[in-house]
Amino acid sequence: MDLKCKKLDCKYNDKFACVAKEIDVNKNNVCDKYEKATKLDEGQKQNVPKNMLNKPPKLHPFRHSKNVQIKCSAECLFNKEGLCLANGITVDSINKKANCLTYMDK
Ligand code: SF4
Ligand code: SF4
Repeated sequence: MDLKCKKLDCKYNDKFACVAKEIDVNKNNVCDKYEKATKLDEGQKQNVPKNMLNKPPKLHPFRHSKNVQIKCSAECLFNKEGLCLANGITVDSINKKANCLTYMDK
């Protein structure tokens, strides 16, 4: 499972990768596990849209995340009995919420 996430200010985020062992995605495709970090290091404070022409973004090291479990309540093509069966998902921060962009209508 490849779990990419743009919510850099979440305590489970490591430079665009989610390091939680499991997450819950609600019926509106939003990650309910999001928790604002109390302290952010340089990697988590990046403003990629602003700086992308000057320097490449700092990304997480390779992480084997075979055992990440995603519980999900959304009416999505990849939802099988409450678990996400996609090979990977991408979570964005549209409207400041942690939306699953991999969502597909059934
Ligand atoms: S918002 Fe959700 S997917 Fe993103 S890092 Fe936090 S817990 Fe992981
Ligand atoms: S891809 Fe679909 S089933 Fe998987 S977490 Fe996103 S909304 Fe839920």
